[in-house]
Amino acid sequence: MTISDTLKNWYKNNARDLPWRNTNDAYLIWLSEIILQQTRVEQGLPYYLAFAKAFPNLQKLSKASEDQVLKLWQGLGYYSRARNMMFTAQQIANHNNGIFPNNYKDILALKGVGPYTAAAIASFAFGLPYAVVDGNVFRILSRYYGVELPINSTKGKKYFEVLAQKVLDIENPATHNQAIMEFGSLLCKPKNPDCNSCPLSDSCVAFNQKRIALLPIKEKKLKIQNRYLHYILLNDGKRIFIEKRDYSGIWKGLYQLPLIETVENITVDNVIPLIMENEILKNQDFELKEVREKIHKLTHRNLHIRFYWIEIAEMPKANYLSILCSDWNDYAFPQPIHQFLSSIF
Ligand code: SF4
Repeated sequence: MTISDTLKNWYKNNARDLPWRNTNDAYLIWLSEIILQQTRVEQGLPYYLAFAKAFPNLQKLSKASEDQVLKLWQGLGYYSRARNMMFTAQQIANHNNGIFPNNYKDILALKGVGPYTAAAIASFAFGLPYAVVDGNVFRILSRYYGVELPINSTKGKKYFEVLAQKVLDIENPATHNQAIMEFGSLLCKPKNPDCNSCPLSDSCVAFNQKRIALLPIKEKKLKIQNRYLHYILLNDGKRIFIEKRDYSGIWKGLYQLPLIETVENITVDNVIPLIMENEILKNQDFELKEVREKIHKLTHRNLHIRFYWIEIAEMPKANYLSILCSDWNDYAFPQPIHQFLSSIF
């Protein structure tokens, strides 16, 4: 018996009786799928019933006013779904003689319809062999086959799409898709799946290897941190100041120019007083020769770097390493500072 056969058998005995399952009317199926995007079945059901009663077919919806539709949608959230639905109904009514598209490509081209919704409509309404792939399907396949590829990585998504299509019953894609979705909602749930009554448990890798809580794997999205670094190139025509970075944070142990870091992106005019207060410039006349900016992207940081090239008559006494301009390349600098200095000297 294939995994699809087992799922369909289970579905036959356990499926909830939901109104959009008793029709192959593409319009009603589309309506239910749009409502169920980002909405639980229990919450979406009364909305579906109200919509199907007020607008039993596409022509009726295409003639509805925005006020009517939004009133019925009230409380469901993500109102762009309602507007997309109206737009699509009018478009089909005006440009397709009111006939709902009957192939995957044209269904996918409808506003507000992504690959999951297109596969659902294509299979439920037209019996076309497109596997639905969403969080339920990722979870079931990842656990059943013990797949450790992150479900939110490009590679993982591709892998699960291919696998979902491979296990699809192409003779009966509608029941297969309904079954796998229902199985994910009722039995192989994200938390505490009911493995003891699961008909797949004998061959489920996650169950047999006690890895249910570990699958599916989700890659942690790294939060991008912004840092604002102001580097001062102080130069009397012969020498510049540098310092060695400490061994914490980025660029451990490399050299850098005197640095002022701000917590937010402030203008050059607002940085100048900070530079003037710095020990290297206190009470000195100086000329701001040039300011250059660049954004340097690291894996999880965007460094907003500004270089301030300042000319001064005589280098002050300061707690920095004073080096000859001609020697700058003897020191290891992070790449953006190296690039800047090589453009100057
Ligand atoms: S045994 Fe548990 S983890 Fe495996 S498919 Fe069944 S419900 Fe999901």
